[in-house]
Amino acid sequence: MKAGENADIEREHDRVEAQHHRCEQWKTELLNYSPSVVFMFKHLKLSRCLVPSSNIVCAPCDLTRSGGFHPAGAIILCQGHFGDKKHMEDTLTHELVHMYDHCKFSVDWKNLRHHACSKIRANSLSGDCRYMRELGRGFVSFSKQHQACVRRRAILSVRPNSMCPDEAAAERVVNEVWGCCFSDTRPFDEVSCAFP
Ligand SMILES: [Zn+2]
Repeated sequence: MKAGENADIEREHDRVEAQHHRCEQWKTELLNYSPSVVFMFKHLKLSRCLVPSSNIVCAPCDLTRSGGFHPAGAIILCQGHFGDKKHMEDTLTHELVHMYDHCKFSVDWKNLRHHACSKIRANSLSGDCRYMRELGRGFVSFSKQHQACVRRRAILSVRPNSMCPDEAAAERVVNEVWGCCFSDTRPFDEVSCAFP
């Protein structure tokens, strides 16, 4: 190995360390001061879904996502993915909505309707589809842009589910549960959905 390569590895290591450190620091701040994160934790607790902060993990991941939820009760924050704390706040809130659904409604993630519903809710309630971030992604639509964003992201998320045969099926299932799940804003307020 050449000296230059060694220096590159060093630099990369430092960069990942710095990202991890920043992610942990933002996580601590969000857990204490973010209204949406504090709110979701309060409601998780009220629903007897205990999430120790050690189950929220900052880690490197591939750049296709900013976070993830594991049904065992863990949330991953993709430390290299956040340009600012606000983005991390949206991601953490999004994953906490999945956590809430999973714990409170015993979601079957292989059931496409369940999956689509939780995706619609997480996208809508977390602020993932706020106007400025949409602009950043290159999507601009002035009318119903929030709904269009939530719908588009839900379809993208359901598509890779192993139970989903194709794009058309993903779209169909999102449309099927849309009316109820988009208006189900729990725990922000009370509405309920029922489907098989
Ligand atoms: Zn999600």
